[in-house]
Amino acid sequence: MSESTQIEVMKQHLIDPEICIRCNSCEEACPIDAITHDANNYVVKPDVCMACQACLPVCPTGAIDNWIRVLAQEPYPIDEQFEWMSLPVEKTLPENAVEIPTGGRREGEQEALAAASTPDGGVVGELKPGDELIEGQPATTAGSSVPPWSAAHPYVNLYTHKNVAEATVAGNYRISADNAESDIHHIVLDFESLPFPVLEGQSIAVFPPGLDARGRPYYARQYSIASPRDGERPGYNNLSLTVKRVTSDYDGNPVAGVCSSYLCDLRRGDKVRVIGPLGATFLMPNLDRANLLMICTGTGAAPMRAMTERCRRLTKRSEFQGRLMLFFGARTQHELPYFGPLMGLPKGFIDINLALSREPDHPKRHVQDLIVERASDVLTLLQDPNTHIYVCGLKGMEHGTLAAMKNIVEASGQSWQELSAGLREQGRMHFETY
Ligand SMILES: Cc1cc2nc3c(=O)[nH]c(=O)nc-3n(C[C@H](O)[C@H](O)[C@H](O)COP(=O)(O)OP(=O)(O)OC[C@H]3O[C@@H](n4cnc5c(N)ncnc54)[C@H](O)[C@@H]3O)c2cc1C
Ligand code: SF4
Ligand code: SF4
Repeated sequence: MSESTQIEVMKQHLIDPEICIRCNSCEEACPIDAITHDANNYVVKPDVCMACQACLPVCPTGAIDNWIRVLAQEPYPIDEQFEWMSLPVEKTLPENAVEIPTGGRREGEQEALAAASTPDGGVVGELKPGDELIEGQPATTAGSSVPPWSAAHPYVNLYTHKNVAEATVAGNYRISADNAESDIHHIVLDFESLPFPVLEGQSIAVFPPGLDARGRPYYARQYSIASPRDGERPGYNNLSLTVKRVTSDYDGNPVAGVCSSYLCDLRRGDKVRVIGPLGATFLMPNLDRANLLMICTGTGAAPMRAMTERCRRLTKRSEFQGRLMLFFGARTQHELPYFGPLMGLPKGFIDINLALSREPDHPKRHVQDLIVERASDVLTLLQDPNTHIYVCGLKGMEHGTLAAMKNIVEASGQSWQELSAGLREQGRMHFETY
């Protein structure tokens, strides 16, 4: 066949809409904005994706690792991908077709991207933590794409959408005060004899029952685990979640969140369909001398509770000597999940800093303000190679938190660029925001 009539095929990078839980991690990780979404689906732009694979390790479900052979001139456009309920089956292609490299139509750019990827295919390294703040890049990329070296090995994706686990509700309690605006629940799920091993910092995804507006089953929503590895009740095969009922959308319009409403209304004995465990990097060090610097807002308290409770149980057995420092933001103390139990923890065990933004008769404070107020203690922790940083909660807290740490480090005459690069490379700085 002459070159002019040669038929080219390529592997098109696609997201499986049945498995995707719409967590947005891939869109944040893609260095060239090849991923976008609408109300239905997350999709990959065929003319932009360079197949660098930086999005693969951040996907908690594996939904993004799909490469279907298509005619190079006829990739599936994103408008079509937005409408999909499931992945298309690969079409039969001409036998004499020549396969071209994915994204190979722009080879120079592909090389540049490959250079920007971390060796493990992780989040691209060309974004420098300090620069991200200035250039408005997603702050999440400042976090580690690897776990702490001492972390226990997690099990991930034991249960998937094809192999869903069933848990029984063992308890569901409102943990925000009766007069608080936020309706936050502590929900205990029991797996009985079903193997569901988890570590602090992992999450699960829950399928709400029912169908969406297009008549397809709702996709699963992700929730951080709030209990330590040995269970909400030690020695039992259960875990807890901290769920806030969504009552308005991001623009403030009233809306009843599908999955959060379902979870908050569950009763003891109800069955819940779950996939997971999810997450292999937001893990705590497994070391008795580790320090944890924990920064959270709202339900971002869930993994912090899991880690704190793990350390508390270890301390009781004299198996932990590290320092815990917590910065916790909420509008009022009534809206702080776990306020009572948190205040009951010994001062020598955990250094608690509450940033309340709407507490009457109190100055308005956000977590970043408190971090700056505690600059010298934060600096001591940041300089200690045994310190690990965890940030969880509202997306908006990422930049402020990073900026506060950057200011503290630079005010001491040190390079934030160097320090934060080390933290990231050593799996010691983790973000989980939503
Ligand atoms: C890694 C990860 C961990 C998470 N951990 C937790 C957790 O521990 N506890 C918890 O409560 N949630 C957690 N979430 C958020 C959770 O997955 C759901 O997004 C949330 O419960 C809303 O789902 P829904 O079905 O109720 O709302 P939907 O029906 O999906 O959304 C309803 C409307 O509200 C908007 N919306 C969605 N979420 C929010 C929000 N948080 N605030 C304001 N508007 C919103 C949507 O854009 C939509 O317009 C986590 C998310 C991720 C990615
Ligand atoms: S493979 Fe690379 S370019 Fe393509 S969507 Fe993933 S991160 Fe973006
Ligand atoms: S589940 Fe995977 S494919 Fe879906 S939005 Fe999250 S990272 Fe992207």
